[in-house]
Amino acid sequence: MNKVALVTGGARGIGRAICLELAQSGYNVVINYLTSSQEAKELQKQIEDEYHVRCLTYKCDVSSTKEVDEMIAFVEKEFKGVDVLVNNAAIDLSNMFHLKNVEDFKRTLEVNVIGAYNVSLRVYKYMLEQKWGRIINIGSTNGINTYYPMCLEYDASKAALNSLTHNLAIQFAPYINVNCIAPGFIGTEKELEGYDEEFLKQEEEKILVGRNGDPKEVAHLVKFLASDEASFINNSIIRIDGGQYGSN
Ligand code: NDP
Repeated sequence: MNKVALVTGGARGIGRAICLELAQSGYNVVINYLTSSQEAKELQKQIEDEYHVRCLTYKCDVSSTKEVDEMIAFVEKEFKGVDVLVNNAAIDLSNMFHLKNVEDFKRTLEVNVIGAYNVSLRVYKYMLEQKWGRIINIGSTNGINTYYPMCLEYDASKAALNSLTHNLAIQFAPYINVNCIAPGFIGTEKELEGYDEEFLKQEEEKILVGRNGDPKEVAHLVKFLASDEASFINNSIIRIDGGQYGSN
């Protein structure tokens, strides 16, 4: 039987690439989204047409325990449970220090950390019962290094996600492998549209391979970590950044 993968924030950007990659590998896919309902529907159709697996979409704010409960209850009704959880949903409310406010900080932690915690807490029992599961958190190199001080809230949230990864890996051992992927600069549409050419050039000069990453490259790593070939990889923070260096 096909394994079931739930990807939070799966309708666009890196999440979308992950949904496509897992569907292509034969997973039934649940696309969680919050605002991108049209994109989620289109992706669902593409996945069903091209890969002939089951694909569901579900609108849910991962920071809401109640909504996450309802989402997983829905998934458990359609499938038995979630085999592979990809905690990908995140926000970045970076701003200059004098423009920051505590509400933005709280919201960033709520989505990026408590969101991953909420969904993990709701899916782990099924994984433990069947003695197999994968939780793959999408962190960031910003959770390891400070590249831009204005990203304070985002950086802190991704550092906390690293800590959550270690904690859950220990608690769920030996049956659920919990890892965190830390991407560097990945050229999603949203990421590229925000910057001018000069800035992009400067950023790419700090990457040893001389370019930004493709969302598909992150998706390939997710596919590998989800597979049995990766069964000896657990409790790790894995950078995928083309050899990024330097900070401002
Ligand atoms: P995007 O901003 O393009 O997408 C963010 C996703 O998160 C969207 O699908 C959005 O859903 C979803 N989301 C936001 N808030 C919520 C919420 N409360 N509940 C459910 N879903 C939510 O990001 P990227 O694709 O660029 O990034 C994906 C992941 O990779 C993130 O964790 C990001 O931090 C990380 N990353 C990205 C890098 C990059 O260079 N792009 C670099 C390092 C890490 P919707 O659209 O439906 O609202």
